[in-house]
Amino acid sequence: MCNSTVLPIKIYIRQSNHTDDVKMYLSSDFDKSVRLCDDFYHHINGEWKKQNPIPPGYSHWDTFSILTMQTQEKIRNIIQNICDNPSNDAESIQIRNYWLAAIDVNEIERLGISPVRKLLHFVDTSDVTTCLAFTMSHRCSSPLIMYDAPDSHDSKLTIAQLAQSGLGLPDRSYYTDPDKQKICRAYQSLIADTFTTIETQYNYPNKSPSQDIAQAVYDLEVKIAKLHMNKIDRKDPYLTYNKMNIRLLQSAIGRIAKDKKRTVDFSKLLRLFGTNEESIGEINVCHLEAVKNITCLLETVDTQVLANYFKWHIMLSFMEFDLPAVFSKLYFSFYETLLNGIATPKKRHKLAMHNIEFVLGDAIGKKFVQAHFSEESKLSVLSIVHSVKNALLDRLKKLEWMSEETKKHAVKKLENINIKIGYPDKYIDYTKLKIVPGKHFDNQLSSNSFMFTNMLQKINRTTDRNRWYMSPQTINAYYNPSLNEIVFPAAILAPPFFYHNGDPAINHGAIGAIIGHELTHGFDNTGRKYDYMGNVVDWWTQADLQNYQSRIAIMVQNAQGTKVLDTHINGELTCGENIADLGGLQLAFAALENNIGKNTDKFASSGYTVPQRFFISWAKAWAQNNKKEHQLQSLTTDPHAPAVFRVNSPLMNMKEFRQAFDVKPSDKMYKLDKNMVNIW
Ligand SMILES: [Zn+2]
Repeated sequence: MCNSTVLPIKIYIRQSNHTDDVKMYLSSDFDKSVRLCDDFYHHINGEWKKQNPIPPGYSHWDTFSILTMQTQEKIRNIIQNICDNPSNDAESIQIRNYWLAAIDVNEIERLGISPVRKLLHFVDTSDVTTCLAFTMSHRCSSPLIMYDAPDSHDSKLTIAQLAQSGLGLPDRSYYTDPDKQKICRAYQSLIADTFTTIETQYNYPNKSPSQDIAQAVYDLEVKIAKLHMNKIDRKDPYLTYNKMNIRLLQSAIGRIAKDKKRTVDFSKLLRLFGTNEESIGEINVCHLEAVKNITCLLETVDTQVLANYFKWHIMLSFMEFDLPAVFSKLYFSFYETLLNGIATPKKRHKLAMHNIEFVLGDAIGKKFVQAHFSEESKLSVLSIVHSVKNALLDRLKKLEWMSEETKKHAVKKLENINIKIGYPDKYIDYTKLKIVPGKHFDNQLSSNSFMFTNMLQKINRTTDRNRWYMSPQTINAYYNPSLNEIVFPAAILAPPFFYHNGDPAINHGAIGAIIGHELTHGFDNTGRKYDYMGNVVDWWTQADLQNYQSRIAIMVQNAQGTKVLDTHINGELTCGENIADLGGLQLAFAALENNIGKNTDKFASSGYTVPQRFFISWAKAWAQNNKKEHQLQSLTTDPHAPAVFRVNSPLMNMKEFRQAFDVKPSDKMYKLDKNMVNIW
């Protein structure tokens, strides 16, 4: 168990508080064949890109992947230790039982499709509402989904959110874009092959030929896709706010089905969840038109097609990890190879690591924090957070384009931002989660149901402002507009983003800019619509809004005008992240200047100035290699622009960068002052 895989990569995360190491860290990946002032990203990372090919089993490889791999090694050691030294601690028992069953592939093969056969039979004998209740409450792929979130107009209260879903392809555009036809055909083959496999290898009697099932299920998904609200509108808090009680929702849909069994009955749905209209209160129907029309579609589509649609989405939800290898191979060839360009499947234990994160993430996180995150690190990150926040406060007060009236609200919002570092005060309580030795599929199902029940208990209650939406071992960070908070899990507070006692220029260029990035999300094109409490309130004067939007329009154009893999970056989709990258860098730079101004530069003999080290550190944080397929998918669905743009574009908008590297008008990274965008 737990065989360690040595990946063919150069692990390159080292830098200490010695000047020589700093110098080595900064310069060792340079590609001098690319001029720094023409393409900073490739100059700084060119050698890294050559030395760090994408390992088998991955769609891309970057600094985040390396840190993830290191974090996973630590977590594997924690799990291994629990497995080798059984204890009576309840969460350790759950971790051990889940893990040992999850990696027991012989038992999973022996059971064949028997665990899922029961669910397929359940679909055949259940009405539409019952099928929907099952998929929704077991976190299966489903035409509608429900989750909890603060009411965006009264953030003190957490309410249920009902949203569109139910597509097997990554986004609605895949079903309509003529360039994606090859992917659509392969997706239909995947559905057909899955139904053929359950019939021929596991004796499951399909009611029609697999090809016909696949065609009909796909056609139904095309209809659902066309009803979906698009990605840009989904970010609009006004368009996605439709609060109503269940009775109103039911009448808004109108009656189409004559047969009661064909009716999507929302009261019954809640009863099947184990709750009722009174407990659930008013809900927000995020994508109202889509939810109404998808519901009507479910009530009118042929019943056999609908049954096959549910069966397919149940299979899809479990085929990667919970069923015999023949299904994970089918899943892999489509979702990983075709959509992401990955040629070699991940080892079972890697997938198990990924899955245990969803099942017992906080239980593992607690042990991870105890072993790997110090209170000193927390304090030192907090001091960077405060200096970046103060830099934003200063700059807000001095903004020329914003009126005093709007500034007052902006300052209040920033002063009230909640900062969470490392780990939550209170972890998820897993006491009621049933994890049984040797029953992998059942464990997965009961975990899905446990998480859903846990979620239901938060609905129509006072919002828990101490809650975390990421586990401490996650390599990421977020801003949550509904709670006006920034959150940095313990695992990202590590090299190359943060070096405890390291060079302040390098720390500010990486974690400092990421902190600034998250802070400015509170004021990006979406975040600006929320007030200091996380409520959707328009606190902008008309003139300020116009000033702001004219600046954003230039950023959208800049992104739109840049091509990666011959594809234009989607300026609208990536707008919020691009605003955050530029703002984050500007704030971190200002914070660094404030801090360093008082002290002598301990790292001056590295050969790089403070600003140079800052900008190199930013570029190094985004060193990345990507499979073409993965990059193309990201260009369609990811709100983050490709790494080369994330590095070069904000720097071209900073005079500090131009000065640090003496960028001349003849250089490609040169921009005239009048063309630079400056928001914060
Ligand atoms: Zn972001």
